[in-house]
Amino acid sequence: MQSISQRSGVGRHRKVNTAQTAKGRIALVTVAAGAVSTAGVGGATAAQVQTAPEDTTKTQTVDFKQVSQTSPLDQVSGNIQNAVEGAQNQVDSAVAATPQILTVAETKPVQNLSEQLNTAIQASEARAAADEAARAPSVSRPAEGTFTSGFGPRWGSFHAGIDIANSNGTPILSVMDGTVIDSGPASGYGNWIRIKHDDGSMSVYGHMESLDVAVGERVTAGQKIAGMGNLGFSTGTHLHFEIHPDGNTAVDPIPWFQARGINIS
Ligand SMILES: [Zn+2]
Repeated sequence: MQSISQRSGVGRHRKVNTAQTAKGRIALVTVAAGAVSTAGVGGATAAQVQTAPEDTTKTQTVDFKQVSQTSPLDQVSGNIQNAVEGAQNQVDSAVAATPQILTVAETKPVQNLSEQLNTAIQASEARAAADEAARAPSVSRPAEGTFTSGFGPRWGSFHAGIDIANSNGTPILSVMDGTVIDSGPASGYGNWIRIKHDDGSMSVYGHMESLDVAVGERVTAGQKIAGMGNLGFSTGTHLHFEIHPDGNTAVDPIPWFQARGINIS
């Protein structure tokens, strides 16, 4: 054995310790066994070398006998086996854990993330739509009847609204929530009502024979504010209606209503 020829150093070390008692050698083996449990397989090999001195047969016999009685070799062997099994378990665990980590990192989180993002986007879009619907003013048709005249030049002047004809007293409704800023007589309109809406726009109603709201009053979309009439510059019972989106400038009410889901024709 090559290892034996290289063990001369160990032999000299043993000779120096020839006075060592068997008890002391057992203690040495026990220490070596303790080292195995922490040092691992390499330490175990070193311990076996120390328990097999070949310089004196007598010492070897005594050592082995005492070792056998107290079973330190069994301890060493058991420790080695435990260490090997523990290491193997760790390797097995590491091998088993590695593909799980890869699976988690490359597949599950991406799928979950995608689903979570989609859910979040959908929830956000739903919230945005709900917010927009909540903020969008409710809009009502100002009166039932027949559309008789549109927005634009008419009779050498400019017709700033639309006309809806019906019978006397037909309910006139506020088109949106707002505050009444005028309710009474006005040149050309006979009577008019003007309502300032919460979005800054203004609606104008003319020719009514009866007025149901006063200046400063809060009204809601669809609320009856007056009864249809034929007062002022009018050739028949009808509602003259104007919408001023910026509060000052009248626009064609037909597309304004269409944009809010109401067709007037
Ligand atoms: Zn008109």
